Amino acid sequence: MNDTYRHKGLRKQLVETIRLKGIRDERVLEAIGKIPRHLFMDSGFIAFSYKDQAFPIGEGQTISQPYTVAFQTQLLEITPHTRVLEIGTGSGYQTAVLLELGASVFTIERQRKLFLKAQENLHMLGYKPQFFYGDGYQGKPSYGPFDRILVTAGAEDVPAALKGQLKVGGIMVIPVGDRNSQKMIRIVRKAKTDFEQSEHGTFAFVPLLKGLED
Ligand code: SAH
Repeated sequence: MNDTYRHKGLRKQLVETIRLKGIRDERVLEAIGKIPRHLFMDSGFIAFSYKDQAFPIGEGQTISQPYTVAFQTQLLEITPHTRVLEIGTGSGYQTAVLLELGASVFTIERQRKLFLKAQENLHMLGYKPQFFYGDGYQGKPSYGPFDRILVTAGAEDVPAALKGQLKVGGIMVIPVGDRNSQKMIRIVRKAKTDFEQSEHGTFAFVPLLKGLED
């Protein structure tokens, strides 16, 4: 499948929709306007690719809503060459947004099927993150510390291992709550033992699970 003028037109409308919902970072909007979301969707939902909604991608998981992807990315303040650890590759759509902003991305997924599919798809589109199959709860200490950490699944609490892998001056964005709803938490590591936390609205993510598969 390719990227047509119709797709480009639908993407422009999507960008305007999320702009109206409050996304202000022009570089983030530009990335959303550029990435062919229809190439990240499950076949049954392709017709809805440019709706501002989450959709199933198999294995009980979802591709996040574009507004949510943009919102998390905006909170991260990505600049070129930023080293980003992403937990929950899923479809790889959020990974593509980070890469469009010039980040070096290390992305972890615990569902083997999604891990393999995202890898194939992102490579086909020319995106080159470092992929890991594993439990993101533990982070990726051998590749850390990171400038940014992004968790794209709802956590019960902030995993200590992830806080430990954040650089001083670094930012982590993680939805924290129960199965039904989570607060968007942004953490800035001010100093080795000083973490500043702020809250940015309520969201609904699939859960961050411990260990591999189910
Ligand atoms: N950003 C992705 C969101 C996918 S949903 C997208 O837009 O497509 C969240 C993903 O996190 C799921 O694919 C799920 O399998 C994965 N996940 C959940 N717990 C995890 C863990 N402990 N480690 C790694 N990935 C995890």
